[in-house]
Amino acid sequence: MSVHRGRHFLQIPGPTNVPDRVLRAMDTPVIDHRGPEFARLGQEVLEGLKAIFQTRSPVIVFPSSGTGAWEAALVNTLSPGDKVLMFETGHFATLWHRMAKGIGIEAELVPGDWRHGVDPAAVEARLADDRSHAIKAVAVVHNETSTGVASRIGEIRNAIDRANHPALFFVDTISSLASIDYRHDEWGVDVTVGGSQKGLMLPPGIAFNAVSEKALAAAKSARLPRSYWRWEDMLANNQSGFFPYTPATNLLYGLREAIHMLLEEGLPAVFARHARLAEATRRAVRAWGLEILCLEPREYSNSLTAVLLPDGHDADRLRRIILERYDMSLGTGLGKVQGKVFRIGHLGDFNELMLAGTLAGVEMGLRLAGVPHKSGIGAALAYLSEEATADARET
Ligand code: PLP
Repeated sequence: MSVHRGRHFLQIPGPTNVPDRVLRAMDTPVIDHRGPEFARLGQEVLEGLKAIFQTRSPVIVFPSSGTGAWEAALVNTLSPGDKVLMFETGHFATLWHRMAKGIGIEAELVPGDWRHGVDPAAVEARLADDRSHAIKAVAVVHNETSTGVASRIGEIRNAIDRANHPALFFVDTISSLASIDYRHDEWGVDVTVGGSQKGLMLPPGIAFNAVSEKALAAAKSARLPRSYWRWEDMLANNQSGFFPYTPATNLLYGLREAIHMLLEEGLPAVFARHARLAEATRRAVRAWGLEILCLEPREYSNSLTAVLLPDGHDADRLRRIILERYDMSLGTGLGKVQGKVFRIGHLGDFNELMLAGTLAGVEMGLRLAGVPHKSGIGAALAYLSEEATADARET
């Protein structure tokens, strides 16, 4: 293994690059998590998070990875044997389904091809069929990190309403929050699941549930066993900025800084930056002559792009060559698409020149790995320059 100089390129779709400002904010002595200084920090982050989730409802913070927040959404609102409707959009939707079944929920997984998001018409049809309202919740992954497909959450909400069905609506935003527009209140979501390590630009280690009034009401009668994940104790302690058990104090310092950074830039600008960098990536992929895994342009993910390699070429070999030669980590293919796709993460603390370096690394790697392709980076750079020229004209 050769020695590398300069910064490692961490271009997996999360954990993402942590900005220096966030690193500095966390580089501080641990304080008493039951003291007055902590209460101010707690209150500030709990309030600030509402802007990020676009909600007025409480956002609960767990010291856990995203998987824990999935479990919290289920165990706080459901009872043994409850029916939940889920959709096989990719690896993460499949894992959430497996968890639901494992904890005693009767979870139905509508099959999918891993190249499309959740079809709102399928949601409507399935719920319209459920005349007895046996389905207690619909759970979808907003941005499937394994495929680079983003489901249309607002349209799914409308589909639930058209079916006139009372099911709770759960959405996993682990790889979309603070990268792709997401509106907890406007889209009538009951539990939004989030994580720290992607669009929020923090290290892994904290995860979130944004909870609606309807979800809180469901929690009163839900009978699945819960203790660590119990919302009630959290919310009671959160009133004064505290937590029922030891919080991830220094990650919360980082979270405070990350929220400041996101609100300084403004969420619309954050989403526009992700959209621009994603579009540039897709232009490069097409110019290389490679295929984007997502087949529906309305569902292209702005946080990552999964790229299919031609038959006979191993995507993990390509990733290995790029890591060894250029010191860049790209996302591996997960589950069904292992070895067939690699994933370019373009989310979080990320800009045009970082993308140019990323695409250059992929292009040189394709050449080294002997994957047939044409030059593609020029198409991305031309698009980024056009966008910059248009912005300059507007200002
Ligand atoms: N859901 C999605 C969409 C994810 O991308 C991930 C992780 O990448 C998870 C759930 C699981 O989160 P964690 O690995 O933080 O437990």
